[in-house]
Formats: sequence, C-alpha cells, structure tokens
Amino acid sequence: MKIIVINCGSSSIKYQLFDMDSHVVLAKGGVEKIGLNGSFIKHESNGKKVTLEGEVVDHQAGIEYILGILISREHGCISDFCEINAVGHRVVHGGEKFKSSVLITDEVVKQIEECIQLAPLHNPPNLSGIYAMKSILPDVPQVGAFDTAFHQTMPEHAFMYALPYSLYTKYAIRRYGFHGTSHRYVSERAKELLGEQRTQKLITCHLGNGASVAAIINGKTVDTSMGLTPVEGLVMGTRCGDLDPGIMTYVMEREDINRTGINSLINKHSGLLGISGVSSDMRELETAAAEGNQRAQLALDMLHYRVRKYIGSYAAAMGGVDTVIFTGGIGENSDSSRYEIAKGFEFLGLEFDETKNVGVRGQEKIISKDGSKVTAIIIPTNEELMIARDTALIVGGKQ
Ligand code: ADP
Repeated sequence: MKIIVINCGSSSIKYQLFDMDSHVVLAKGGVEKIGLNGSFIKHESNGKKVTLEGEVVDHQAGIEYILGILISREHGCISDFCEINAVGHRVVHGGEKFKSSVLITDEVVKQIEECIQLAPLHNPPNLSGIYAMKSILPDVPQVGAFDTAFHQTMPEHAFMYALPYSLYTKYAIRRYGFHGTSHRYVSERAKELLGEQRTQKLITCHLGNGASVAAIINGKTVDTSMGLTPVEGLVMGTRCGDLDPGIMTYVMEREDINRTGINSLINKHSGLLGISGVSSDMRELETAAAEGNQRAQLALDMLHYRVRKYIGSYAAAMGGVDTVIFTGGIGENSDSSRYEIAKGFEFLGLEFDETKNVGVRGQEKIISKDGSKVTAIIIPTNEELMIARDTALIVGGKQ
C-alpha cells in the first residue's frame, strides 16, 4: 500500500510518499514560497535530491506540482497516480470534535471548517490541501490526523482555564495542546524500546521551533503545555510561552498597538528571538552564547529553566515519572540543552549520564545512567510515519 502524507502550511506543502509494505519512504520533499515570488520544490527520491523552480500560485497548484514530480520519468518513483492508495493530511486543530485520526468525509470537512475560528492561520491551508487532493484524486480515500487529538484525554481540571465558565460553553475556550502526533509517536516508541513497566508515567519534551511538553499516563495525555493556541507554555523560537495576561493590555496601551500587533508580538517577535535579539535558531544562539553574547545566553537559560519547571510540575502532577523523552530539532540534536534541562534531577530519581549524552544527534539513545530509577531517552520524532500508519489502519478498515 502506498500512502502520501501531506502537511500544508500557509506558504508551504511538505510531503512524504510511503510504501507501507516495504516500510520505505519512496519520496519526500516540500514546495515553498507558495503564492510568493521565487517558489520552488525540493524533492528527494531514489537517493537523488533536486531543487526545481516554478511558479506555484496556490495550494492546488502545489499539490499538482508534487503529484507531477512523483510520476515524472526523471525524478519520479511511481508510474501512475492510481498507485497512490490513500492520502494522510496533517490538520492542526480538531477542537473537541476529533479525538483520533478519521476518514475525511464531507461531514468531516465541514467540522474542520468549523474549527477554523480556533486556528485561523493553520486550518485554512490544511483544508486547501484536502480540497486540492479531493479534486485531483477524487476516488482516493483521505485521512485527517489532528495535532490536538492525542491530548483530548486531558481531564477537565487540566484543560479548563480559570475564566468564566460561559467562555468555554460559548466559544470552546479551553486548553487543547498541539504536537499531539509527535508526543504520541515518541510515547509509543518509548514503550517499544523500554517496555511497559518503564513507560507508565512519561514526560515527553518536543523541543523544536515550536515546543511543548506533555505528561502521559499509560499512553494517555493528562496535561500538556500548549493551550487554546500554540503560544502557551515553553519559551519557543519566536513565541513567548507562559505570560501574565495583564501584560497584554499594559503593552497594548503603552505601545499603542492593536490586537493584530499584540498577536504578532507574542507569536513572531518574542521567545528566543525576542530575548536575544540575535536569532530564533538554537544553533545560532549556541554560537553567539559561546562567543560571549549575554542575551543569547539569557535566552538559552530561560528556555532550559522553563522546561525544567514543566518537568518538575508534571512529575508532581503525575505522582512521579518513569521516563523523560527528548525530541524535536533541539531535543534530538542539542546535547548542551539536554544537559542543562535534565541535570540535577537526582531528587526525582533521574541520574543523567553526560558521557552517554554528549555529541548525540538524531538517534535513539538512553542518556540516563544504568540503574537510574527514571530513564532519560532521545527519540527522534516521526510525525509523517504516524500519520501514514493511521491512514493505513483507517483505510484498511482496521480502526
Ligand atoms: P519545527 O518546529 O520548525 O519543526 P524543528 O523540530 O526542526 O522545528 O527544530 C528546529 C530547531 O532545532 C532550531 O532551533 C534548530 O536550531 C535546532 N537544531 C537543529 N539541529 C541542531 C543542532 N545540531 N544543534 C542544536 N540545535 C539544533
């Protein structure tokens, strides 16, 4: 069975074509700068990487471009569209409607459209991908995998905000959490690697440009750091994370900015970038800090400190922890961040092993000492594979 996984952002489309029988990624890549000058596609298949330029005006054109390259003689890996058995789409916000991945029907499309208010920047491009695929491959089943779905098991006391209850009933204002597919992938993988006993209580740290932590008991999220939107929680590349809400009105008044301005401030100009004034990118910050830039160092210290606070609070909330997982670009690659986050947790039962940790990038590896009561482990995430597996199960009628 061949499955294409599609992830549509506002000006990009990422894709991977899986052969589920041979467990091989046949092709992967992305179209970037959709609707802008200089659009291009990066495509990889049969061990060959190419970058091709071309005008891509919208998501429909982007999907046509991707499918075209997949069947092209020079760069392709299939001879006909009919070889594609199913499409899996990443959808950011499923609100309270979606607790797992689903087959996309007209009714489901309507429900995703109803969630647009909750994710006005993310759900519309996700829907554009669905509409485009439906028009080009009308007979191929499509599945939606939601970033929010895995966290739908959070209990009420964790997902409610202490605001008037009517805001929840009127507008569904509550905490949803994101990166669910990644938290789910690494938690399931940890169970395979470490066994059930060591993975009953997990803290999963997805540390990328966007970042979130989840507390998971027996495979079910009980809390996570992102909220109604992805801006809550950790210090991220350009998002501020947790904030005194009083700051918002204060800054709006003092700086005379409106809601668009404040939204842009907390989402695009804060976090690592806002504090350091250098970059939102961990590698650039690490270099700047090593060269003595104190604000770059402060940004790093704040990121590490916030993750530590979440680990401590989730261990308290769960009454202990068996395993702490690191994933995402920073979690998988930055040994110094992992060290700064996980050191000194002996009181929790976690004995970090700096020798095992140092220099490890992008590979599965235990980084706690042998015999440590709590395990620390790096597990590279694979959201696309998770979406492909869900799609195969649903299309195969097994879920
Ligand atoms: P996104 O949320 O965009 O998917 P990623 O998970 O790709 O982000 O993570 C991007 C972050 O990972 C960036 O801050 C980047 O600097 C960091 N990163 C990637 N490789 C390394 C590395 N070798 N060392 C330190 N940080 C890294």
